[in-house]
Amino acid sequence: MPKIALPTPLRPYAGGRDAVDAAGATVGEVLAELTAQHPTLQRHLFDEAGRLRSFVNVYKGDEDVRFLQGPATPLQEHDTLFIVPSIAGGAPTTEETAPALSHDEIRRYSRHLIIPEVGLSGQRKLKGAKVLCVGAGGLGSPLSLYLAAAGVGTLGIVDFDVVDDSNLQRQILHGTRDVGRKKLVSAEERLRDINPHVRVVPHETRLSSANALEILRDYDVIADGTDNFPTRYLVNDACVLLGKPNVYASIYRFEGQASVFFAEKGPCYRCLYREPPPPGLVPSCAEGGVLGILPGLLGVIQATETVKLILGIGEPLIGRLLLVDALGLQFRELKLRKDPDCVLCGPHATQRTLIDYDQFCGIGPADPGSTTDMTVEELKAKLDRGDAFVLLDVREPHEVEIAAIPGAVHIPLRQLPEHLDRLDPAEDLVVHCKMGPRSARAVKLLREAGFTRARNLTGGIDAWAERIDPSVPRY
Ligand SMILES: [Zn+2]
Repeated sequence: MPKIALPTPLRPYAGGRDAVDAAGATVGEVLAELTAQHPTLQRHLFDEAGRLRSFVNVYKGDEDVRFLQGPATPLQEHDTLFIVPSIAGGAPTTEETAPALSHDEIRRYSRHLIIPEVGLSGQRKLKGAKVLCVGAGGLGSPLSLYLAAAGVGTLGIVDFDVVDDSNLQRQILHGTRDVGRKKLVSAEERLRDINPHVRVVPHETRLSSANALEILRDYDVIADGTDNFPTRYLVNDACVLLGKPNVYASIYRFEGQASVFFAEKGPCYRCLYREPPPPGLVPSCAEGGVLGILPGLLGVIQATETVKLILGIGEPLIGRLLLVDALGLQFRELKLRKDPDCVLCGPHATQRTLIDYDQFCGIGPADPGSTTDMTVEELKAKLDRGDAFVLLDVREPHEVEIAAIPGAVHIPLRQLPEHLDRLDPAEDLVVHCKMGPRSARAVKLLREAGFTRARNLTGGIDAWAERIDPSVPRY
């Protein structure tokens, strides 16, 4: 029999159940059976004319049935329908459905309770709210710590990474004793210590087109703490398709950005950036670095926006892009407009499902037989054989000071175009940087300039230090 998954606000009208089995061969029949079993749901789902209310969406798997055959969409035995209501005014929990507070909780949240804008009803909304933090890293650390402390009742965290020494400079959710442990395990322990009243839901997975809608649809607010373009577009698109607010921030060196993308009330991330930059053009924090305090600043801004959305107070960052410059300590604000041609949230939107985001961002799967790439093992074999070739290091001078592969010629990427005369197009050339993206750009530039024998060392000096020569420090 098909199953209907109910969101939190509707569960009180179905005897508190999160899913109901209902017989029927189409979406319309199954919904009719649902309201026959639970008549009070009728007015929440349908208007007087019997039409599904405009703020209620029904999904079959990850497809909105409006884009299938509407109520006539056929259903199989094992199909699940998801009812996804929009969040009115950013307040996911209504006065009646918000959970009550215990005496312990009243004491714990007393500084909130005495602010009129929060008060008892606001604190109950926080307790009833479900927030998903995508990533338990730099941004996810302050974000989840403050949301837990503030009493957000359900905190989901998506992460699959392990705590590394190099994380501790900014990822304050984790400590030195956590190095080598899963970030989710360390995060859960720390958050439970901060506030045992919070339910932490770990999602140990890499968010993908296959699982994003399934994971996100349970939450009221999504806070995006990712550090890569494919996941950022994935989170944006999934939020638009599910009608959820996406509290966004990103960081690089001394600068950050923050906004709230909520397609129902303003632009989405795609309205701001239609397409991602080509791979390697914008370095990641691993490649370019980040001031450890910066994710603290931006993550706290995300936490602030998240709490405001839950409480329905203040002016959210919807339609505004906040730019933070830590060096000048300046906060600038840009106005964001909805792109009328946005493929996702515009009036003529064409994209109704998730896509392949690696492909969208130009990141192809590694090609083992590639003539432009080389592994560190191949480089080692080349050196051991005594092959004639030039190893070119395109990193910045301050990076070469930290670690270098002996014998490399050093020309920073930004100076490469005017120093091509130092290289010989007839020679084999292996180019490396820290992790691969900058050297990939260098190889593209070199090949276009006639250096057809140039190859990129995948994984850079970092892979070399990890897999070939442990005496080279990793940074
Ligand atoms: Zn858009």
